[in-house]
Amino acid sequence: MVTGAKSIASLLAFVLAFFVSPTFAQDAGIVPLTNPPPHTLHLYCLSTGSIETRQNQLVAGGSWQKVSVPVPVYLIRHPAAWILFDTGYGSQTKSDFSGLLGKLVSFFMGIRWQPEDSVLAQLKKIHLPPEEIRFILLSHLHSDHAGGLRDFPRATVFLSQAEWEAAQGGRWSHFRNGQISRQWETDLRRIAPISDRRGFPYQGFDHAHDLFGDGSLILLSTPGHTPGHWSLLLNFPSGKSILLTGDAAWTKENYQKPARRGFLARHLTRHDETKEWESLVKIRKFAEDNPDLMVIPGHDPAVWSTLKKFPEYYK
Ligand SMILES: [Zn+2]
Repeated sequence: MVTGAKSIASLLAFVLAFFVSPTFAQDAGIVPLTNPPPHTLHLYCLSTGSIETRQNQLVAGGSWQKVSVPVPVYLIRHPAAWILFDTGYGSQTKSDFSGLLGKLVSFFMGIRWQPEDSVLAQLKKIHLPPEEIRFILLSHLHSDHAGGLRDFPRATVFLSQAEWEAAQGGRWSHFRNGQISRQWETDLRRIAPISDRRGFPYQGFDHAHDLFGDGSLILLSTPGHTPGHWSLLLNFPSGKSILLTGDAAWTKENYQKPARRGFLARHLTRHDETKEWESLVKIRKFAEDNPDLMVIPGHDPAVWSTLKKFPEYYK
């Protein structure tokens, strides 16, 4: 999707790395491909714990087989910054699920987590201090995606305006929506909601945002699982493209058939079934139109087992 970086463009990108900030942050709005393509783009896949469930919760009509699903976080190295797509279960997961209610939720969800599972702990493997994470892109605000926000207090947090507006209810509303508000309430100043109105249509998706205006990191609006869910497309200088669906699709079957999630999983949190289905259909079409595209669903143990794992990376 992005042609190979030429040497001058690479040099320019290197120089720009010190000055470029996301187009989000610029009042001019999102103008795609205004910056040269990046000379470097690395994607690291980490899991920050696991959730024990049944196959028929991931996919309606599936078996009763027990499965252990990953809780992914994606670390991205772009010339302009280190970035996280989602934050998984963070260092405060134990206290997030303390108290009677928290323990019940944790038990019924089958959460398995150890302190060394947080991204914060795992980054030590590559000697990357947490303050180096400049931007966090959140697919949505569910507790298995926003849990690590507090571990990176210097990062600006981008999420969709629709997701943010839907999270403005009280504690009961957060509970009903699968959110734990203290995961983000500690510092609201760094939250930067982005309106779909600033986006542009992209290959069947109604709204997209080109993070650095270089075509390398494109957020795609995939609502339904939550009101303002985002997926992320990475276009590498090598020509390779990877789509991180987030929870728009939990598994490959969800978008390939497409197939809904299990009944309980669909109804435990508020969501929009029509929009969820439309997003699955769009992802399927996008994958069909781009046969070389690698798709990484949100919680698919089979796909996860085939991936390069941190500290290995895709480029
Ligand atoms: Zn999730």
